[in-house]
Amino acid sequence: MKFYSTRDKSHLHRLPLTEAAFAGLAADGGLFMPERIPLVDMKRVEKLAECSYAEMASYLAQQLFDDVPADVVKQVVHEAYDFPIVMNHLGDNFYNLELFHGPTFAFKDFGARFMGRMLNHLCGEEPLTILTATSGDTGSAVAHGFYGVEGVRVVILYPDGKVSPLQEAQMTTLGGNIFPLKVRGNFDDCQRMVKSVFRNQSLRGRIRLTSANSINLLRWIPQSFYYFYGYCIWSYMTGRDFPEVVVPSGNYGNLTAGMLARRMGLPLKGFVAASNANDVVPEFLQTEQYHPRASVHTLANAMDVGDPSNFERMMTLCGNNVKALQTEVRGFSCDDKQIAESMAEIYNKYDYVSDPHSAIGYLASKQLDVDGFYLSTAHAAKFGEVVKNSLGIQPQLPDVLHESMLKSRGFDIIEANESVLEDFLLKM
Ligand SMILES: *Cc1c(COP(=O)(O)O)cnc(C)c1O
Repeated sequence: MKFYSTRDKSHLHRLPLTEAAFAGLAADGGLFMPERIPLVDMKRVEKLAECSYAEMASYLAQQLFDDVPADVVKQVVHEAYDFPIVMNHLGDNFYNLELFHGPTFAFKDFGARFMGRMLNHLCGEEPLTILTATSGDTGSAVAHGFYGVEGVRVVILYPDGKVSPLQEAQMTTLGGNIFPLKVRGNFDDCQRMVKSVFRNQSLRGRIRLTSANSINLLRWIPQSFYYFYGYCIWSYMTGRDFPEVVVPSGNYGNLTAGMLARRMGLPLKGFVAASNANDVVPEFLQTEQYHPRASVHTLANAMDVGDPSNFERMMTLCGNNVKALQTEVRGFSCDDKQIAESMAEIYNKYDYVSDPHSAIGYLASKQLDVDGFYLSTAHAAKFGEVVKNSLGIQPQLPDVLHESMLKSRGFDIIEANESVLEDFLLKM
């Protein structure tokens, strides 16, 4: 299997897996796509899903990563997915797939943990440094995804005072191969420093560097696997078929991974792109006009994206046919007041504490009368303040999160300056 860029209309410049994975973004600025989408045997998927998530995911991963030995794929998947995935029946016709039982309590663990283990296999003997800037959530998922992976070091830049205490604890209490750098600046400074290092060819000649950006194909592709699992359990629980899946969306990696699953033969009716006030994609589905813009801050802040990177994947997957996309994906958006009201409604009606992102999934399911399930992307305790303000109760932190809050933190503090970062990398 080779990978082409969304911006390469000829599909002629295809890269092998290792090169595409290390590059992250294609040289022309596009995102990598598999050259062909394998059709899977759904009977087999259903059988394997009965055994375990990892068994099912191994089979699916082998279809897409066919240049990697099957036993390696199997090991990668089994190591990555050692945590539960739960289909919850909220009540009435509401089902939600809880994707937040991994180490950082958000669905990004599914992509980050797979990527960590697969990169370790692909990089062979030569040590590899992952360099990434974060405004909070990505950093903790990447840190945990690569923690303890041999031959890989992770350097994470985050802005001083701009990430939550819980996010900081998740990045800075691991130690080992994780090197957090607290930058005296904002997120844009962090991102600028990382980009400048990636442009520095002489430095890149001396250190083997890659990013763990969310658009990396190794993070994107494994997110298609849980749609299969959700389908199997939902159809078993309800006795129905062709569910529609509601996806709380920001950068649209999650939703486009679902579109990939559907093209692999998963019988889904389609999707709902559920967004907060950052509604470029729902607006596009309605008006056929795409107007990327600066993001606005909302209660569901992991979805505050004004110019979603994966829009290119979405268009590529539907063959740039807007009408086809409108048939497959329905749009939905809501404001902060509706998010808070939904969280309260879920709590009062179903005695279930929801985080703000997943609550948008619930609201979309209700207002669009969805027959299917919505994805729950984060544990409520990760957004304790928002939950407290909406419900008046403080959600209980899971034990591991609570413990990490109590552990001592290790990080270096650096100025927001490119050369300081380069020195740090060379001295490591
Ligand atoms: C990243 C994230 C999202 C949005 O996912 P995309 O793939 O960027 O659309 C939704 N909810 C939570 C909790 C997230 O961390």
